[in-house]
Amino acid sequence: MSFVKLTKSEKNIRFREKVMELAGDDIQICYQCGECSGGCPEAAVMDLLPNQVIHKIQLGDESVLDVNTYWICSSCLVCSARCPKGIDIAKVMESLREISLRSKKRYVELEALTKEELEVLPQIALISSFKKQTS
Ligand code: SF4
Ligand code: SF4
Repeated sequence: MSFVKLTKSEKNIRFREKVMELAGDDIQICYQCGECSGGCPEAAVMDLLPNQVIHKIQLGDESVLDVNTYWICSSCLVCSARCPKGIDIAKVMESLREISLRSKKRYVELEALTKEELEVLPQIALISSFKKQTS
């Protein structure tokens, strides 16, 4: 059997601490039972299941910000209610959204949209996108 050696840099630790600070929860106590994912109504369309997201955060792996899970999450709170360790997973998802928005990463290149796209895209979505990207 081979073991993967886990190394944790200061950056990894800072990321994990930031998520826990925003969520107000200690996710280190998660023991990967999978109860949260088992009840998640959005699981089928998520890149990573909620328990996998928690595991990545435990490792301080910032690549968790590149998956769609926390955007797909509808904050229904089923996971939080099912967690035997009392972790508010929905709040953890909210923390990831906050961190992602604060990083001002651009998900929509407004300047790159064509005239045709501008005619069919919902105006309210465009306005929201402008607000997010300029505030
Ligand atoms: S239900 Fe709680 S303890 Fe179980 S995997 Fe999800 S977060 Fe971890
Ligand atoms: S709060 Fe989000 S992650 Fe939790 S069960 Fe609902 S949709 Fe899934």
